Amino acid sequence: MRVLSKIIAKLRNNLKSANLFPTMTTVTFRPESRTCPQCAKRMKVLNTKTKPVATLAIGQFLAREYHYYCPRCGFVAGSEELGELVPQRCNVGYDVLVHVGEAFFLGSRDNRQIVDELREKNVQVCRSEISPTWHYYTRECGSKPKPFYR
Ligand SMILES: [Zn+2]
Repeated sequence: MRVLSKIIAKLRNNLKSANLFPTMTTVTFRPESRTCPQCAKRMKVLNTKTKPVATLAIGQFLAREYHYYCPRCGFVAGSEELGELVPQRCNVGYDVLVHVGEAFFLGSRDNRQIVDELREKNVQVCRSEISPTWHYYTRECGSKPKPFYR
């Protein structure tokens, strides 16, 4: 019975979202519509951009985003889905930003503890990335920053 419970625990652990993509898997994101919202013309592919992304929900992955453009009016569209997961020009998800902000301000954890916690969830960030992350959190969520001498 003990062996069986160990096997079940191991299987359960493998089902965690953090283990969903143990290696960097590429996930493709496209704009939801191919039709220009301004003039209803069919849009064409402008380019694709790939960036490494880390979220608590699905761990680390490479996000390949398609951008479409309208040949008539020049409107450019990116993926709404990726935009809801990760802020523009950012490599960590909104869920990571909230986690870091809460761990820092509510949990009173230091940068090293936060990095270790995130690593357990398959989100790799450097300690030097944590401070900008919680700065971002305070700007986005309006929390009051604590002095930064820990
Ligand atoms: Zn258009």
